[in-house]
Amino acid sequence: MGILEVKGVNKRFGGLQALGDVNLSVKENTVHAIIGPNGAGKSTLLNCLVGKLIPDSGSVMFDGQSVLGRKPYEINQMGISRVFQTPEIFADLTVIENMMIPCFAKRDGAFRMHALESVSRERDLRQQAETMLEDVNMAEKRDMLASSLSRGDKRRLEMAMCLVQNPRLLLLDEPTAGMARADTNNTIDLLKEIKQKRDITMCIIEHDMHVVFSLAERITVLAQGSPLVEETPENIKGHPKVREAYLGE
Ligand code: ADP
Ligand code: MG
Repeated sequence: MGILEVKGVNKRFGGLQALGDVNLSVKENTVHAIIGPNGAGKSTLLNCLVGKLIPDSGSVMFDGQSVLGRKPYEINQMGISRVFQTPEIFADLTVIENMMIPCFAKRDGAFRMHALESVSRERDLRQQAETMLEDVNMAEKRDMLASSLSRGDKRRLEMAMCLVQNPRLLLLDEPTAGMARADTNNTIDLLKEIKQKRDITMCIIEHDMHVVFSLAERITVLAQGSPLVEETPENIKGHPKVREAYLGE
């Protein structure tokens, strides 16, 4: 049994079958990548895991409990955090103030915007946030405005904002999208470091094969809403089905 078990998940948008009978099993403390062409349903699947979308049928179990029907903040409190495709940070707050938002959101079971109100009043979670910033080598940038950070540091901050919640499962939707090679490599190193320092399961959607092959222990290939293959990185490279669907060969 994996920490995350997706069985027979279907999701339609009107006439479009975005997900068709998706099965996915993610083992605890592994890095599992989901790859596939644009429009394959990767983000839709992720949205079904965090309560942003509700599948038409099927089941999603996290650590033996169903996540279906739960609100996003409840799923977050169960131990699932998500890094968005474009960084969701608050530009007008400093780095350290940004870090307080997920701390409050998790404690109070509130949406991020509600948590924003608490930040100016409360200080008791600050230490946790400071420690996490040190972990991602951003301590010296704590008082900078988020808007003034480089793209790579914005990503790093967003990652820290997820990790400060101590998730058991971290979902990443194209964490290196739009990054220059140097920032991409930094992100790979950061994720490897995080993996070494703590028990965490990562499920990563990624286009960049260099990232996938640097991090993933298992790879699921999604094509037209359905899983094609689930394999180790070594076995995925030359897989004929993958070459056909993913590389268009
Ligand atoms: P991927 O992340 O793999 O690129 P998505 O999950 O974003 O793919 O999209 C899968 C398919 O579902 C695409 O054809 C996309 O246009 C469609 N789709 C995604 N979200 C919606 C939505 N909210 N309403 C209608 N169609 C959607
Ligand atoms: Mg996507």
